Amino acid sequence: MAHLVNGLYDTSETFRMARKQLDAVAGAVDLHPDLLARMAAPKRALLVSVPVRRDDGHIDTFAGYRVQHSLTSGPSKGGLRYHPAVDLGEVAALAMWMSWKCAIMNLPFSGGKGGISVDPSKLSLGEKERLTRRYTEEVLSIIGPRQDVMAPDMGTDEQTMAWIMDTYSMKVGYACPEIVTGKPVEIGGITGRREATGRGVVFCVMQALDELGIRPEQATAVVQGFGNVGSVTCQELHQRGVKVVAVGDKDGAVANAAGIDIPALMRFVAGGQSLVKFPGAGPIAADDLLSTPCTVLVPAALERVIHAGNAAKLRCRVLAEGANGPTTPEADAMLAGGDIFVIPDVLCNAGGVTVSYFEWVQDLQQFMWSEEQVNQNLAKLMLDAFGRVRALAKSRNLSNRTAALTLGVQKVAREMTRRGLFP
Ligand code: NAD
Repeated sequence: MAHLVNGLYDTSETFRMARKQLDAVAGAVDLHPDLLARMAAPKRALLVSVPVRRDDGHIDTFAGYRVQHSLTSGPSKGGLRYHPAVDLGEVAALAMWMSWKCAIMNLPFSGGKGGISVDPSKLSLGEKERLTRRYTEEVLSIIGPRQDVMAPDMGTDEQTMAWIMDTYSMKVGYACPEIVTGKPVEIGGITGRREATGRGVVFCVMQALDELGIRPEQATAVVQGFGNVGSVTCQELHQRGVKVVAVGDKDGAVANAAGIDIPALMRFVAGGQSLVKFPGAGPIAADDLLSTPCTVLVPAALERVIHAGNAAKLRCRVLAEGANGPTTPEADAMLAGGDIFVIPDVLCNAGGVTVSYFEWVQDLQQFMWSEEQVNQNLAKLMLDAFGRVRALAKSRNLSNRTAALTLGVQKVAREMTRRGLFP
């Protein structure tokens, strides 16, 4: 039966990758096959058509998805992605990873994810708003503050969350900020959410450097992606004295061996300019970005960018996975036993969902948190999770990825077992 269900998702390379990781952990921890079958496919997936009236009056219809990997541990929690490559399998894989991530962080959430197969850069603001509101309407039957809570992901932002919050609130008849996280502070968002993922990445990087005996001021970094996660990661590294020597985005990549002036680059990009035109760095081939020698390499854009074809070319000491699923299992096997300290995505980028949890609690309790409280609690939970992953990796001689996934999968398995099977 599990095989039949999986046939729906297996066409996606990203879903096959998530399955391979789960199978590897299941083998290592002797997970009961019945539990494995329940975890191997999402609990629920909704496919919707999202018609949008374009500014010139014609209508385009896009494919939208919302996948709930499980509802075992609490509401499904996960981002909403706008990208042309979004498909059912990718969203299902991202939802599964969210389950393990929430479990590693001990958050009372299960994994979910959503997406629309669309290039957001080709939509006007008005078209994006109509797309978002119509998508919300289409998935209304399965979302809710106790059921499924969305957040920004690639191609979506605070404004997207504000439209979802407004659409949902209009439906239920009262302001309902707890329906989404990562929304603007004025309407119930939490301070520090926008920065949380990048900040969490850098908390992990600092722990890894400390373990390796490398001082931040001796370290260099290369970051792929200069959106929410990539730009904040650059900023936080820069503030701690790490020299960011190369960055890239969908337009290309630039490098400066003396260190890029990150605040100046942030201002340049915020002014609407393309990163590749930044005068404070020279262009390099996008394909060379990941193999640029550095202490810390941070992929913070797409999945599967580190694969069998380039894994051997990495010249970093720490691989900090800001993106979800940036390293394929084949590449992972090549890195295993080498001297690259891998901070796996399910741990490294968990700062976002952690502060989303604080935001959800803040909205449910209608009790505002200060930025200081947010950052202190984020640091505490990230360092605690980092410590538990490293302790398991060392005690059982596991890779950091296997250790992290083991913690996540085993927690969900314990909860499923305790709850039993209905009816
Ligand atoms: P974003 O849309 O803000 O930024 C994405 C960045 O990736 C942009 O700079 C874009 O130019 C770049 N990019 C796109 N295609 C590229 C390509 N082919 N080569 C190089 N760069 C490319 O997205 P984000 O929110 O920063 O998310 C980035 C990654 O982090 C995704 O994998 C996402 O799932 C993951 N993530 C995000 C959050 C969050 O809180 N936003 C939390 C956890 C994980």
